[in-house]
Amino acid sequence: MSSSTDNSAASVSNKKRPVIAIHGGAGAITRAAMSVEKEQLYLAELERIVSSGQAILAAGGSALDAVTEAVRLLEECPLFNAGKGAVFTHQGTHELDACIMDGRTLDAGAICGVSHIRNPILTARKVLENSPHVLFTGAGAEDFARANGQEMVEPEYFFTQERYDQLQRAIAADTGVMLDHDGASLKASGDPIDPERKFGTVGAVAIDESGNLAAATSTGGMTNKQAGRVGDSPIIGAGCYASNNTVAISSTGTGEVFMRTVAAYDVAALMEYAGLTLAEATHKVVQEKLLPLGGSGGMIAVDKFGNVELPFNSEGMYRGFARVGEAPVVSIYRS
Ligand code: ASP
Repeated sequence: MSSSTDNSAASVSNKKRPVIAIHGGAGAITRAAMSVEKEQLYLAELERIVSSGQAILAAGGSALDAVTEAVRLLEECPLFNAGKGAVFTHQGTHELDACIMDGRTLDAGAICGVSHIRNPILTARKVLENSPHVLFTGAGAEDFARANGQEMVEPEYFFTQERYDQLQRAIAADTGVMLDHDGASLKASGDPIDPERKFGTVGAVAIDESGNLAAATSTGGMTNKQAGRVGDSPIIGAGCYASNNTVAISSTGTGEVFMRTVAAYDVAALMEYAGLTLAEATHKVVQEKLLPLGGSGGMIAVDKFGNVELPFNSEGMYRGFARVGEAPVVSIYRS
């Protein structure tokens, strides 16, 4: 959705060093459950994708373009629970959600409950640019995608054997919903995160050389979720938020708790109204507000000064960041 609000005056005029951060989900990701080969694969993909975003920023591209491309690449990678590789609902279907926000103008676009759009983040970006609305659901979102030239696919496109097996285990174990990246029953599948407790949403946040912030989030949701359930990822202020006044955030974790705590916006509010630093605000939300309500997961955050925080309260989170002119840093576990 486009609007005339412009926060750009809030960003200082001196050139900031651009930086991008990405995540590929959080959960009970343990070294013990991960083979060396799988670990290298995840790290290589994270580095490749964060480097692509870094290259856009290095060439003078916008934060909005950098996060769009990084999330598109994460959607294309079947290792992560978004786009190709998305998890299954209890009913054996795929329902994808995505959101993008421009911190300069507070423009935002989001879609949820779609199963025929190859790259939900690109459609969310079209909503941001071409629609007076912010959030489209289901068939309406898919009609909007078709009308805006988006690549459509059959739902089978999203199938991966690994995710299907994950659903069968969840149903057999009667665990209820589960995050895409958690560690115990991984052993059966060779999956580095226990399907019972893992989150696999993807996201990106960035600040560009003009000091503009942007955030993007995309997900298949939680394995074994009921059809029709929507989590935090497409919800502005919960799974995704960006304002040049403060911070850009993308969340991953138990979506219901991120929604109930308005987690992403809470970080921005703590910074804007209570004067907390990025590190203080993200710590407060991730460790002190989400955890007591059973909210497991984390977030990636870049503030208007170019500070980066990648906090999580689970065992691990696939994550990385890259400042222009510096080598990318990628990691999985607690250090
Ligand atoms: N937050 C996502 C959801 O609740 C799941 C995840 O992060 O993996 O849909």
